[in-house]
Parts: sequence; structure tokens; C-alpha cells
Amino acid sequence: DSPLLRVEDLQVHFPGRRGSGGLVRAVDGVGLEIHHGETLGLVGESGCGKSTLGRAIVRAYRPTAGQLHYRRADGGEVDLAGLGERALRPYRQEIRMIFQDPFSSLNPRMTLRDIIGEPLKVNRVARGRALQERVAELLTTVGLRPEHMSRYPHAFSGGQRQRVAIARALALHPRLVIADEAVSALDVSVRAQILNLLARLQADLDLTTLFISHDLSVVRQLCDRVAVMYLGRVVEVAPTEELFARPRHPYTEALLSAVPATHPSRRGGRDRIVLEGDLPDPSDPPPGCPFHTRCPYAVPRCSTERPAAVEVAPGRTAACHFADELHLRGAGQAA
Ligand code: SF4
Ligand code: MG
Repeated sequence: DSPLLRVEDLQVHFPGRRGSGGLVRAVDGVGLEIHHGETLGLVGESGCGKSTLGRAIVRAYRPTAGQLHYRRADGGEVDLAGLGERALRPYRQEIRMIFQDPFSSLNPRMTLRDIIGEPLKVNRVARGRALQERVAELLTTVGLRPEHMSRYPHAFSGGQRQRVAIARALALHPRLVIADEAVSALDVSVRAQILNLLARLQADLDLTTLFISHDLSVVRQLCDRVAVMYLGRVVEVAPTEELFARPRHPYTEALLSAVPATHPSRRGGRDRIVLEGDLPDPSDPPPGCPFHTRCPYAVPRCSTERPAAVEVAPGRTAACHFADELHLRGAGQAA
């Protein structure tokens, strides 16, 4: 069946540095499908455009070009990329974002009732007694106690605050949740609890999640499929275990090689691939394959011809001229 969201040739450009006259191509032609009920991981180095893509999907940014084909609950389809604020309103309820930092994203002067209840109030979904009851229910859903609703964020730990942020995101029964580094600010033990919570909510609430993270081990634990971004483009998409076992894009191989194995004994001679050079300036992306300035396998063709994303196996795509020929190393079975 058709995906819940189909991103097509999406571009999000920002004005470059003052006087440069250039454009920062933060998202530079992304195609991606998010299926109903899945958790899709979105990985890549900082600056690769993954947060910008997430924010464009929730329409915090208006895309410069391209489409966001969203399947509505009634089965119809709408392109969110072109909608004005008024037409967007119902979809702003259905597509919600969870941010990284539970300290700065919660207003310290608001009680949990006000924080979690705000989307209900703003969208005139509930007020008074009904609002209280929904907030109590949401607190229970995320593993907090209803009697906490009259307290302020400072009374809670980082993990508890992230639960509050999740409760707030869930308030309007979203169909699609964009989690941007949602557990990255948390300690390892707390992180595991929040990951368990997200996995449970996923199953219980029939959620679809785009899970943006720079942490590959977390993505490997939580996600069904993974999309890898480099310099504003999606370079590879695959089911999680297939991606880790056998990457098909040289950038994915390099990214995986930088992850320490969970069990040191399994590290067994796999060397880290150190990429040469820095991430190129997104206001002046290299011609041809965006990865050619750092790719260990690059040949002259790579610097002139842009590789299209092609299906390299059922359900797998890679944007490399040699995706079918290269024998790349995976991250082994450790996790
Ligand atoms: Fe490397 Fe060329 Fe493939 Fe790009 S197209 S990833 S430069 S081999
Ligand atoms: Mg980011």
C-alpha cells in the first residue's frame, strides 16, 4: 500500500552568509518514503541536513521545491509542501515533533498540565475537566503520575522531562512523529528507558516515527529501516539489519566503521575508515557525486556525473555508480 509520507525531490535552501550571494542547500533533492507503522531512522553527520528535513516535514520550514505527499486518514493524498498556514492546520495536529533537549523545550514557568494541555487548548480539542483527564491519561501513558500535573519542569529529571515532551507530542493523537535526537541528551541508562517507552508507544498507539539520530547503535536498536543522509541527499535506504550487515554505499560503510562494536572481542581487525577532508560547504556542493571529494572508491566519472538512487535489492536503494560492484564491509552482528 502507499506510504504514509512520500518525500519527492525535496529542496530546502537558505540564504548563505551575508554578501556571499550563495544558497545553503541544506536539503538538496531528497526522495524518501515513510511507511505506516514503521520507525524509520535518519542518520548522518551533523550538518548533513537531517534536522532540516525533519523540520520541513512538520512544515516549520517551507520547502524551496519538491513535494511532501501525505496520505490522509481518509485515504486521500495531500502535498504538504505547497500548503498555506490555514490549510496546514489539521496536519499540524497529525504530524508532531519531539526535540532533543527536554530542558530548553519545556517552558519552566508552565506546569505539566499547561505544557501537555497546550496543544489541546490551542486546537480547541479539550478544556477544563476534559483537558485535565486527557493530561492525566497522557502522563500515565508515558510512565508518569497524574498527580504530577500541577508541578513545574524543574522538579523532574532529564528522563522525566523527556517523557513530558513525549506526552505533549502525543496529546493530539499524531499519526506521524518526528523525533530529532530525542534521546541524545540523556544518560545511557535513562536513554534505554526512553527507548523502551518509544518502542512500546510505537506498538500500542500505531505510530509512525521518523527517528533522527547521529547515534547508530540507538538507531540499530529501535528502527525498522534506516536512511543515510550526506550533504543534503539521501544516499542509502535499507532495512536496519541489512544496512548494518552489508552497506551498499561507501559513505554508509565509513559511517558504520566509526561505531565501536558493543563487544570489544568482536571488533576483530575491522579498521575504522577515516574520511579525508571535511564535510564540503553545503553552499558550494561538489559537482557529480556529493561524496566524491572524500570517497575512497572515487573515479573521475564520480566528479562529473551525479549518481541517481537505484534499487540495489528489494526495498534497498543506494546512490552510487558502483553500488552493485563494490564489496563493502558492514558492522558485523554485534549490537
Ligand atoms: Fe564514491 Fe563514486 Fe560511489 Fe560517489 S559514485 S559514492 S564517489 S564510488
Ligand atoms: Mg540536528
